[in-house]
Amino acid sequence: MPEEGGAVKQTSHARLRRELLRRVLSLGGLFALSTFASPQVVFAGRLVRVSGPRMSESKGVTRVVFDLSGPIAGHSLFVLHEPERVVIDVRGAHAVGNLRTGKGTPSLLRGVRHAQRNGNDLRLVLDLRRKATPRSFVLKPTGGNGYRLVVDLHEGASGRRQPVVTARAHEHKRRDVVIAIDPGHGGKDPGAIGPRGTREKDVVLAVARRLANKINRQPGMKAVLTRDRDVFLPLRERIRRARRHKADLFVSLHADASPDKRVSGSSVYVLSENGASSELARWLAERENAADLVGGVKISKMDSQLASVLLDLSQDHTIEESLDLAQDMLNSLGKVNRLRSRRVEKAAFAVLKSPDIPSVLVETAFISNPREERRLRSKAHQDKIASALYRGIRDYFRDNAPDDSLLASLQQKSRG
Ligand SMILES: [Zn+2]
Repeated sequence: MPEEGGAVKQTSHARLRRELLRRVLSLGGLFALSTFASPQVVFAGRLVRVSGPRMSESKGVTRVVFDLSGPIAGHSLFVLHEPERVVIDVRGAHAVGNLRTGKGTPSLLRGVRHAQRNGNDLRLVLDLRRKATPRSFVLKPTGGNGYRLVVDLHEGASGRRQPVVTARAHEHKRRDVVIAIDPGHGGKDPGAIGPRGTREKDVVLAVARRLANKINRQPGMKAVLTRDRDVFLPLRERIRRARRHKADLFVSLHADASPDKRVSGSSVYVLSENGASSELARWLAERENAADLVGGVKISKMDSQLASVLLDLSQDHTIEESLDLAQDMLNSLGKVNRLRSRRVEKAAFAVLKSPDIPSVLVETAFISNPREERRLRSKAHQDKIASALYRGIRDYFRDNAPDDSLLASLQQKSRG
């Protein structure tokens, strides 16, 4: 795998679809319909095939041409130094053949590498022997040639410069991943109460604050709390707040209770399929009111069948990603506490019903169990739980950092 290449991820279609849903929803109306109808973009199985390259050199300009099986959704280009290289990310594409350079390669080019990123994007890396200024564009079919991606490499000062985004400048624009932490209950709703009177709403807020601090200390990560004090919040409002902050993840924190005081251990929940389908039905039934639930976009303006397909796709894949996160959390929680079950649990909890934000609900421990109640009160143990949850989130993003996030580029560097 080339150093700039990201790991191929199985659930990446999920991300493409969700990203698509977000875009479609944010565009709204007819334009959205036509975007959705563009098959190249929507169906990950139909990625644009990239082959070549063909190369030529003339008057200090080296031209590298990749043949495309159709129009691409977009591409971006940036330059890295020491060693000199040009990186081109092609959206919704994959390589055919090895894309290597052969005999007759212009002297500027050391070689060409490629890697599939996140399943759907193709990263092309042109290794150069000397500094050059790239210019790239896509050509439409003419004279027996199909679509082509052309990269012109200008040596010396003669080249017409295209504003090149260097790796550094690139990173400044990259965003933090946002983790919404939702301490359960609050205000008039104390949640479960332990034998010594410990209230769920207080201990989960304490753990949430510690978790937020750990997250905020990490470059590229940002935590937002749905509540940062002892206040009552309706369940839907918790989701709404996460969405308002454009959360990438939603983590709801709770403490379990059972009439049987011996029951103990942590568990992690994701939305059950039944919960999901009834939620979709609800959304479609209440389309007039659904606006604020789908990123502020009026789903009511959409064709109902399209809306249902979109929601369905999005929800399915969000659940897949939630499962990923839940499993990572269980693994790390298992190191600081007994697990109630090694498996991720499924339930129709209302706070897990965002169709586009992977969401988990963590029952940190049983507050009804005297030993676990004692631990939940301990600052040291609260910190251990927060650390375990943080590690779960970190592990999740190791495979799932969004492409436009600072985290993704930091990870690439440490992998390179
Ligand atoms: Zn609770």
